[in-house]
Amino acid sequence: MDVTKMEISKLAGYTYNCNCKNTHSVDVKKIVINKNAIDETVSYINGQTSKTVMIICDDTTYKLAGQQFEKLLPSSQIYIIHERNHVHIAPNESYVGEVLIKIPKNVDFFLAVGSGVINDITRQVSYMMDKPYVVFGTAPSMDGYASSTSSLIINNVKESIQGQCPIGIFADSQMLQEAPYDMITAGFGDVIGKYNAIREWQFGRDYKNEHYCEQIVEVVMKAVKKCESSASLLKKRDPQAVINIMEGLILAGMTMGMYQNTRPASGAEHHIVHYWDVDCIKRGVEHPLHGNSVGVGTIIICHLYDLVKDKLPVPVMELDGKEISDTLAKAGCKISPVDLQISRDLLKRSIVNGHTMSSKFTILTYLANEKPEVLEIAAEQICDLYYEKER
Ligand SMILES: [Zn+2]
Ligand SMILES: [Zn+2]
Repeated sequence: MDVTKMEISKLAGYTYNCNCKNTHSVDVKKIVINKNAIDETVSYINGQTSKTVMIICDDTTYKLAGQQFEKLLPSSQIYIIHERNHVHIAPNESYVGEVLIKIPKNVDFFLAVGSGVINDITRQVSYMMDKPYVVFGTAPSMDGYASSTSSLIINNVKESIQGQCPIGIFADSQMLQEAPYDMITAGFGDVIGKYNAIREWQFGRDYKNEHYCEQIVEVVMKAVKKCESSASLLKKRDPQAVINIMEGLILAGMTMGMYQNTRPASGAEHHIVHYWDVDCIKRGVEHPLHGNSVGVGTIIICHLYDLVKDKLPVPVMELDGKEISDTLAKAGCKISPVDLQISRDLLKRSIVNGHTMSSKFTILTYLANEKPEVLEIAAEQICDLYYEKER
């Protein structure tokens, strides 16, 4: 079967030998997005275990679905992670530790009820306990649902930590539709960033002979197109548009598992965002939702490619930054670093030093190593697009 044509629910659990000479497999075994997802989650879990299930949620997701799961899974134990001093829950060592301490000894299975943070915490805790988990996603906000790694903050540093992917991903379509709008735009931004991720991969392939998989790229592009076509319907919270975003996010996340690397779904647009996030964490300031930053990061990296195009060693994929920016704006996403409270100085530093965030080859790596003076000038020019000159 051609993976590029398969429905997302059919891709779950699928393994195949690819033309790229690798075997790709999707470790998530069940994907359900519909109006009946709570009941389907319960019957799936009942088919997996008859022992104690631990439900992990926060105050918001407890009200949304946690309390229903508590009733429908009589042998479950629930743990609600509360915010501390009105600061949002973060995927850090403190919260992972808190949940670990609260786990009863007899737990056999985990259910995460939430989006990015709750999923990351449950992923790590269940992985450490060597028990499977499923996630009931409450917002289409990021592509990490299907991931096997978490981006955890340890000692104020963001680290990608090995965990496990959920065996099932479930989401109630109505609930996704009613999610806070900045979470929906974050999901949209994270998916749109894949355009640049693929451009970077092709750059690596053409310049450094990096391994590349046509089919996975096709799957990623399918996810992007699916979301992009829904941009203008998103503000109306069109049910199908929101489902498309969720499917696009799961699909894009799945490709990282299939390729055993984040190459298909992240490039320089993610590295400058990680730079911003780390800076915020160090200053003790909350950073914007990941995907809302990634959308802006994508526009900035498009500017960078436009500025240095004729200085690159190989031809690269043409992307129209203006068109991407218009698409993001149409969906109600932020399109300027100013709107994300990123200072001119931080933007410049992130462009010049963004390559230090990852060992992955991107335009930032190329310029920093081969043409640092070009990178410096381009970073300054990009800053001029958004900010008054500093005196
Ligand atoms: Zn392949
Ligand atoms: Zn992302």
